[in-house]
Amino acid sequence: MSGKRKLHVGIIVGALCLSARLLLAAQVSSSQAAHPTSRSAGTPTSQSAGAPTSQSPAVTISSPSPVGDTTALAKEAQGWLIDMIRTNTTNPPGSEQSIAKYLAHILEKEGIQSEMLNLSPGRSALVARLKSSAVADPSKALLLVAHMDVVGVDRSKWTVDPFGAVIKDGYLYGRGSIDDKGMLAANLAAFIALKRSNARLNRDVIFLATADEEQGGDASIRMLISKYWDKFAAGYALNEGGEVFMKNGRVQYVAVQASEKVAMNVMVVARGTSGHASRPTKDNAVVHLAAAVEKIGGYSAPTHFTTIVRRYFEQLAAIEPDELGKWMRVLDSEDRGEHAQKVVSEASPLWSSMMRDTVAPTMLSAGVRNNVIPAEARANLNIRLLPGDTVDVLLSALTKLVADPQIKFELQPDAGLAAPPSSLESDFYATISKVAAAQYGNAPVLPFQSTGATDSAQLRLHNVQAYGLVPFPLTEEDYLRVHGDDERLPVASFVKGVDVLARIVAEFAAAK
Ligand SMILES: [Zn+2]
Repeated sequence: MSGKRKLHVGIIVGALCLSARLLLAAQVSSSQAAHPTSRSAGTPTSQSAGAPTSQSPAVTISSPSPVGDTTALAKEAQGWLIDMIRTNTTNPPGSEQSIAKYLAHILEKEGIQSEMLNLSPGRSALVARLKSSAVADPSKALLLVAHMDVVGVDRSKWTVDPFGAVIKDGYLYGRGSIDDKGMLAANLAAFIALKRSNARLNRDVIFLATADEEQGGDASIRMLISKYWDKFAAGYALNEGGEVFMKNGRVQYVAVQASEKVAMNVMVVARGTSGHASRPTKDNAVVHLAAAVEKIGGYSAPTHFTTIVRRYFEQLAAIEPDELGKWMRVLDSEDRGEHAQKVVSEASPLWSSMMRDTVAPTMLSAGVRNNVIPAEARANLNIRLLPGDTVDVLLSALTKLVADPQIKFELQPDAGLAAPPSSLESDFYATISKVAAAQYGNAPVLPFQSTGATDSAQLRLHNVQAYGLVPFPLTEEDYLRVHGDDERLPVASFVKGVDVLARIVAEFAAAK
């Protein structure tokens, strides 16, 4: 995303990597409202269905891993994660180079050469490669990508030091513990496990630590691709964006992100005559803006189903409670579809957003003095388009709805780009599905179209089959803390996630 996003940090940044997961969590909370999360802090899970627990961090490995037992490695990786949480990379300014140097040092100790890709002063990405042959074949290569920057904190709301990496009641606390330093540490562990195993590789595996994901500015993956694409060009990628969703001590399902909605902002501008507030006029810009925002707030765009969303609901229907599952099965049917869409949309804002373009008013500004009628009033609309939809169609519907000549819509220059979805038929998607199902107690693996944006869109635009999966089993409560207060990662989930990630990577990249 463009640097324009910086103007709206507080609200719009939340739209990035965060929302895919937050909303996925919200979906389960509302769909199963009668069945609230009952667990209390410190007793995260029971051991059923392969879900790890804080009481028993030792993970049962049910089948031999191609990289062997990862328990000791996960312990090492936990140390890296602690060090990285303690290195404050709040964006802005990011200062990711400090972590890039740290990672380079760890790789060096393993005999792996890495390269610093400089983006701006103090901001660098880091890349390293395990080669499969003397001549690289980028179309086969697997890219492990995670970002080093984090969002800011409101220290007054945290019960522990957000950059202290405190371990308490089976959780590792800290900004970035889930988003995205946990995955960064797990990627590094999987990469190093493969190196230590001395396995013969059938494709190059590339480790990439990126900068500026949370702001999408001048040190982001967009810039990285434009300056250094040949350093990490790959046919496949694993990134954040999907999740292992745990509830009542069990993994309910694994959602693998294969597509995402497209974010953009539109300014609604109302203009009227300015003047003394003691003589109110009918064309007051504030009044016209308020009326427009109210209409827009009630707008619901027509539905349409992408292949991924159709498959998501088909598979979810099998594990949802009877009534909801029944409606999910007929979402796209001619006769009962409309009613089904209403029921499913009302059950969850995520589901509603997965089947239509959405508009959310997020910021308002007007006025200079409390006794002056301003000439102009503005509202920002944060828009999420289904991939393939165009903003013009939506804006013409909104113009008609508002029907006010004093109102104009201005598309902001920070629009994301629509990327083609990653294939659900690729070898890598099959590998992820197979390993995840086996490791998470045969939980269903669903393709997911996230409503939030990730770096994967940029990769997909460069022909990469990119998939999102944060491999740690996490509950709704865990996810609600991401970008919020007291972000924390269950230590047992980290251990499990490291093992699963290492298995996925080895399964896909080690020659049989
Ligand atoms: Zn993230």
